[in-house]
Amino acid sequence: MTSIDTSSRTGDALIDELTDWLEENWDPDLTVGEWWERLGMAGWAAPMLPEDSYGKGVTRGDALRIGSTIHRFGALGAPTGMAVSMASPTIVTHGTREQIDRLIPPAVTGKVSYCQLFSEPGAGSDLAGLSCKGEQDGEEWRINGQKVWTSGGQYADVGMLLARTDPHAPKHRGITWFVIDMDQPGVDLRPLREMTGNAMFNEVFLTDAIVPDENRIGAVNDGWAAANTTLLHERSGMGARSGGGGEARMVIAGGVANNLDKRAGDFAPTPRSTAAAAAAEKDKKQAPTSAATVGSSPAKLYIELARELGKSGEPAVRQRLAQAHILGTISRFTTERHKAVRATGGDIPGVANFSKLLMADIVRLNRDLGMQLLGARGMLHSYGGSDELPGGPRAVAVTSQALNAQALPIYGGTDQIQRNLVGERALGLPKEPGDMSKMPFSELPKNT
Ligand SMILES: Cc1cc2nc3c(=O)[nH]c(=O)nc-3n(C[C@H](O)[C@H](O)[C@H](O)COP(=O)(O)OP(=O)(O)OC[C@H]3O[C@@H](n4cnc5c(N)ncnc54)[C@H](O)[C@@H]3O)c2cc1C
Repeated sequence: MTSIDTSSRTGDALIDELTDWLEENWDPDLTVGEWWERLGMAGWAAPMLPEDSYGKGVTRGDALRIGSTIHRFGALGAPTGMAVSMASPTIVTHGTREQIDRLIPPAVTGKVSYCQLFSEPGAGSDLAGLSCKGEQDGEEWRINGQKVWTSGGQYADVGMLLARTDPHAPKHRGITWFVIDMDQPGVDLRPLREMTGNAMFNEVFLTDAIVPDENRIGAVNDGWAAANTTLLHERSGMGARSGGGGEARMVIAGGVANNLDKRAGDFAPTPRSTAAAAAAEKDKKQAPTSAATVGSSPAKLYIELARELGKSGEPAVRQRLAQAHILGTISRFTTERHKAVRATGGDIPGVANFSKLLMADIVRLNRDLGMQLLGARGMLHSYGGSDELPGGPRAVAVTSQALNAQALPIYGGTDQIQRNLVGERALGLPKEPGDMSKMPFSELPKNT
């Protein structure tokens, strides 16, 4: 797997190497495309990928430090999105050498952006029940079906596609994983407007869309294994990328978004001196977790808002603020604990599922706390992000978070599915009765 630490250099040595590399290579007058080409081909854009596959073979912790070092240096961060975080680790794990060398460079250099064509109107939690058809026709595959919830499809050059390629096999054994070109007549993408005011999702209709066989990742009908790699990286949240760029302006990767010819320096964060950047990264590593964690409260936004609105003395508000701080702190400690165990080659069964459940509780608590603080003002939202409504930017942040709170408990596996996984995989409880996983897909009962 790509997350195995194969690097000969870790920790401070790696940060020193990166700082030297940035001194030599960062130039704000490069275009975004030119800068990402340098960063990606040097292995700094997707450092968790193996060294022979355009990465550095580093751990997740080191990948995060690489991301924040680039940010503190004042350079534009690596391309973000599914190309780096989900598609690349899947292709590296299940693809051939030829596919790795053809498909990974455009992904890690931000030239190509991916979307995820997995969910369908009748297959979300039960993803293996998908029915979008893939039929082989010589060296090509013909795809027919419908996908939904396709985040960022409007900016995607290509998609990670799951299609049913053998309806007579049991449902998990007749699926194949493809890379499909989104810019073709057989792909019809329609945006779906959400209550947040954004249209991040799309529905995608595939009518005789074509995928060349060379873009099939893994064996025919063995796509479930590849899909699980993609989902693992989706759930772990960071995949193979180098981590966030803090306050840097987000630059959407890929040809469709049309950012590659813009000046890289226009999107870069404010630089710090390079020596200060390297020293800060090292200090961060040496600081004990507790000190780093206690310093700033996870509930900071809400504490500040409560003070601003004169509500920080209300017992009911104080209780919820304390709860938000406690849950946020537990979440951080859980992540630290898991990281420490993984660094020694171990694992804690079910912790990824617990962490996601905890995050879902946190976003719901924050939503309710925000509404409690804003009162009647919470019923209004500044859809353009403008501050024409009372309450200023903090109120806008609170109503945005409240509207977005419904997303996390659903994507990457709903709360109920996380609990099923904990029950079956971590606690060893029996599966649901009536398991039909061995029955041919074509004979499964269907809604009519
Ligand atoms: C913000 C966001 C972004 C997304 N982006 C993408 C994307 O880019 N690409 C993509 O392919 N998909 C994407 N999805 C889709 C997402 O993966 C699905 O919404 C999710 O898997 C749930 O599927 P569903 O919506 O079909 O709900 P369903 O599976 O129909 O579930 C409906 C309800 O029934 C419950 N339920 C279902 N089965 C069980 C069970 N066995 N036991 C107990 N309860 C059960 C669920 O928990 C849920 O409450 C996104 C979703 C969101 C919210």
